[in-house]
Amino acid sequence: MSTIAENIAKVGVRIREAAQASQRDFATIGLLAVSKTKPAEAIREAFAAGVRDVGENYLQEALDKQQELADLALTWHFIGPIQSNKTRPIAEHFAWVHSVDRLKIAERLSDQRPPELPPLNICLQVNVSGEDSKSGCHPDELAALAQAVTQLPNLRLRGLMTIPEPTDDVSAQRAAFARLRALRDALDLDLDTLSMGMSHDLEAAIAEGATWVRIGTALFGARDYRTS
Ligand SMILES: *Cc1c(COP(=O)(O)O)cnc(C)c1O
Repeated sequence: MSTIAENIAKVGVRIREAAQASQRDFATIGLLAVSKTKPAEAIREAFAAGVRDVGENYLQEALDKQQELADLALTWHFIGPIQSNKTRPIAEHFAWVHSVDRLKIAERLSDQRPPELPPLNICLQVNVSGEDSKSGCHPDELAALAQAVTQLPNLRLRGLMTIPEPTDDVSAQRAAFARLRALRDALDLDLDTLSMGMSHDLEAAIAEGATWVRIGTALFGARDYRTS
């Protein structure tokens, strides 16, 4: 087995055990393999080991890998910060966008979604930790943003996403994820998705209802930003 295949198996065990611990059905938790800075070959190995959903943060890097991997039946998710002049290729080349945090971006994605493709699946990114510098909409702005996004014809609002402030304290991890779940429930829209949990906190996220865990390091190893 390749290291990546072994890592996928290990992460699968973590997800399964976390699901069991909170009496959740393992099948309701999706593994999104986050491959930023990693070569297309690593994604090919992950595909061979069963991965079907890939998350990328940087548009040009993602488009290059999509070309190299066009022979694979992968579903591509955009999870990085979005500049408004980059929305068209995102609308054209992805099935999901997890990082929408303002209406202008959502409107552009809807306008630019090619009509022959199904609606673009959207998660609204929320800043549950409250630091001003981070991306994600403020919880107070969420209800109005969500209402507006449900009106856009070529988007399908699926749920919420968050990247909490990193901490090793499991109860603090859980509190942040619980806030996202409570915000989702308070919206009173039909939202089936909570995109939350990364390599170091996937157990806490699953305990609080994650339906996508976004896993990079635990699958592909540490990232080296110097060469990318
Ligand atoms: C990089 C990244 C991840 C993966 O983080 P790891 O700690 O490597 O698992 C998940 N979500 C987003 C939005 C990311 O940018």
